[in-house]
Amino acid sequence: MKPFRLGLGAVLVLGIAFAVWSAREAPRTLYVGGPVITLNAQNAVVSGLGTDGNRIAIVGDEESVRAWGGEDARVVELAGRALLPGFIDAHGHFPGTGIYALVVDLNSPPIGDIETIDDLLDRMRTRAAETAGGEWVVGFSYDDTLLAENRHPTRDDLDKVSMQHPVAVVHVSGHLAVVNSKALDALGLDGDTPDPVGGHLGRDATTGRLTGLLEETAMLEVMAGALAPGPLEALAVLQKGARDYVEAGVTTAQSGATTAAMIEGFDWASRLGLLPLRIVVWPRKETADRLLDGDWHFESHDEQWVRLGAVKMVADGSIQGFTGYLREPYYKPPPGKDPGYRGYPRILRDELIERAGRYHDAGLQIAIHGNGDASIDDILDAFEAAGVKGEDARPIVIHAQMTTEDQLDRMQELGVIPSFFVLHTFYWGDRHHDIFMGPQRAARMSPTRGALDRGLHFTIHADAPIVPMEPLRLVWSAVNRRTRSGRVLGPDQRIDVMDALRAVTLDAAYQHFEEGLKGSLEVGKLADLVILSESPLENPEAIDRIRVDETVVDGWSIYHREGS
Ligand SMILES: [Zn+2]
Repeated sequence: MKPFRLGLGAVLVLGIAFAVWSAREAPRTLYVGGPVITLNAQNAVVSGLGTDGNRIAIVGDEESVRAWGGEDARVVELAGRALLPGFIDAHGHFPGTGIYALVVDLNSPPIGDIETIDDLLDRMRTRAAETAGGEWVVGFSYDDTLLAENRHPTRDDLDKVSMQHPVAVVHVSGHLAVVNSKALDALGLDGDTPDPVGGHLGRDATTGRLTGLLEETAMLEVMAGALAPGPLEALAVLQKGARDYVEAGVTTAQSGATTAAMIEGFDWASRLGLLPLRIVVWPRKETADRLLDGDWHFESHDEQWVRLGAVKMVADGSIQGFTGYLREPYYKPPPGKDPGYRGYPRILRDELIERAGRYHDAGLQIAIHGNGDASIDDILDAFEAAGVKGEDARPIVIHAQMTTEDQLDRMQELGVIPSFFVLHTFYWGDRHHDIFMGPQRAARMSPTRGALDRGLHFTIHADAPIVPMEPLRLVWSAVNRRTRSGRVLGPDQRIDVMDALRAVTLDAAYQHFEEGLKGSLEVGKLADLVILSESPLENPEAIDRIRVDETVVDGWSIYHREGS
């Protein structure tokens, strides 16, 4: 992969500009003439808000805000547009959306345009032709169930891309990859290699020859080898990622499962003014182990900008990759698997319990990825066994996709925060209904209404770059639960707009232990704001068509949509 030198200039200019602004106090600014959706305890909607420096100084009616502001204040006329707290990412992999600055985009419609395996191979071949022999050629986010052939590519397919380059294509779930023969050689894998713990190597049923498919832990080495960007490449990814987020109205990003080097990189970038938004980083378990062993130490330059959050562990895979770990079998088993196939755990239960205990005793918050209900059982057992519960611990189940009613009850007892990947109902809902889960279980996935009825704090997320970072589409999805074919999947689990907005603002702040600082428009909180082209309270069916007009971080307008 070649360095993106042109991108660097832009990054530096942006960064220096931001460093210059942020060194100064933002001017006193008034936002008037539109609904100000505060997300405070009363769900108040008012008509004015004033900021002073980096804080919200007054919230109320337009007249009193204007009177407070005086002659010199800067005035932003909302003219009917809505002002909300900036969106807070509950879970994702910032700056992952920026990865497309480096790798080939293999998304199928509606996100991309890859419809067949030939499309995929053509796209990869073009990149291989631009890449020096021996270097990795990597593509992201193919979806086997959206390709006309309805299967994963194989090593033989990818050998047609190149025999001179190691080639890897990563599944849209982020939990599987397929590599070519050259890559298998480079990784030292052949038909005699046993499956690693928590992972699986695809093999030809008759000959045992590797097919190139690497599941779960088996793909970790590919990720490390294929995605080791140099400093310039890392900056290009960071720049694109940050732009994607601020254009979507996100003022706090989340980066899940980060290495020590990435965390230091974020802190360095933020200190230099290269990161225009705030970030909560979740160290992966290996990083947390280094922290606990005293082998690595991290001190943020400023916790308001870069904060160390929960340790992230991954207990199973993804339902749409057939690696989610279920109590009952998949509705239709994947090719080559028997009808009793239930997926599998990625970390064994005992290890999960042991680690949860160790991290909790060290005072760390814990977030565990679990999609299948069997995996969620393991996670809740681990939290319970290790005494991880309540307000001080705020344990998180990431995705919590197939959470059952009895598990919601347990979450209530333990004070668990489920963070739902609600966009599954849109992107994969039809296939959950027809293939993975069947009609009954598909209707119950991401049970936001069940969580709300029990008074749980819950959040909703896009897991970007698994799907694009679009908080408004998340809200739309939680409110409507429409699939791509237009079916409403599980109407009982729909929630109201205000409750969905809370899950991308105040409760996301709560999940990050930052509800005193952000997440609602209240006096004293940080001036992190978003202006939307119209109020999401007006037409719930059309929330996905609302545009982000302006994004404000720390009192400064850092994004203004052209023409708005
Ligand atoms: Zn994730």
